Amino acid sequence: MAADRTRDMLTVSPSLSDQAYRALRKMITDGELAWGERITERSLGERLGVSATPVREAFRRLEHERLIERRDGRNVTVADPAATDLAKLNLIQAALRGVAARLAAESATDDELTAIKNSYQLSITQRSTVQNLTPAQRISVTREFHGLIDRAAHSEILLDMIATTTAFDLGERVRAVETLRERYPAEKGLDEHREILEALLARDGERAEQLMRAHLTRTGDFFLELRRLADNEIGATARSDNHGGANKESTGKELRG
Ligand SMILES: [Zn+2]
Repeated sequence: MAADRTRDMLTVSPSLSDQAYRALRKMITDGELAWGERITERSLGERLGVSATPVREAFRRLEHERLIERRDGRNVTVADPAATDLAKLNLIQAALRGVAARLAAESATDDELTAIKNSYQLSITQRSTVQNLTPAQRISVTREFHGLIDRAAHSEILLDMIATTTAFDLGERVRAVETLRERYPAEKGLDEHREILEALLARDGERAEQLMRAHLTRTGDFFLELRRLADNEIGATARSDNHGGANKESTGKELRG
């Protein structure tokens, strides 16, 4: 880490490469760049209005996080995690965020607990006005609840590790809510959030960890199942159009559509 930081300072303004990293990471996690899409330093530099150098630095970090992949040294693509990888990521995420909930129960400040409680209340209030919200807005409320708990664990290392496991979540989940609309089972999730909140307020670390882990394992499985269904439909279409050779790029785009 220390060596990386030194290199950043020597080659490029840290803030610029940092900004490029954040912007690119967001484009991937928001689904603006499709899974498996080919990307180049030059095209993304142009898009972000920066030279290739900060983009190269950003690529290096994203590669380390496995959000992009480099093949034969030149071709860079956005990662296209297989369902098996996603299933493992879900398990890891559930475990890490379980630990975060335990630490939060033990060490969150009263202000942090109040913020978590307010975030939960907001999601309950919004449930009654759900028609007025876009899927992304709906999801951002529950994401905030989880983000507040993660941060209340007071561990930067844990936050970084969680960020890696959640990178592919958002685009996927927004699409699921868009597809399912009012059939999206939000109620159960909110009940589970209430139980987690109660464990946090009771400062019961063990229970908070257990509940969080069970909650995220369940929701992770749910989204994975939806993806499997979508993949099967796309697979069938691609086979008939493409003589059996579904290429990654078009599959990624159709998944988003
Ligand atoms: Zn949740």
